[in-house]
Amino acid sequence: MAIKLKELQDKKLPRTTIADLPFELKLKKGARESQKAKEAKENFIKIINKYLRMFVSDKKCINCEEDLSGIFGTFNWGIVHGEGHCSNCGYPARGRHYIKAKNLVIDDKEETELILPFILQYHPSELRQRRK
Ligand SMILES: [Zn+2]
Repeated sequence: MAIKLKELQDKKLPRTTIADLPFELKLKKGARESQKAKEAKENFIKIINKYLRMFVSDKKCINCEEDLSGIFGTFNWGIVHGEGHCSNCGYPARGRHYIKAKNLVIDDKEETELILPFILQYHPSELRQRRK
């Protein structure tokens, strides 16, 4: 199945933001009242959102509409770490995202690197058709 890149680009699909993902970013206990910490958190959210712009957050493949995740999901890991694609149509996706973090707590655990284990497909506007 071919990737209908131009058609997908014309759809102007929404780009992913942190609000689309099922996790919450929290400040460390004791840092919650600090203006500096709040600013750091806001700044980090900006960094995450800038990163997430590259992706769409649909659960189904935006090209062939198959479910990407789950037992019958079509997502296949590729050779490059974290990268993959829809096994039905080949549309590219990333299944692991690494974003450096500082003084941040995720689910009450302090982290230095934010790892997002979500399958996100590349936004069509981030892709170019390969020359033949
Ligand atoms: Zn697909």
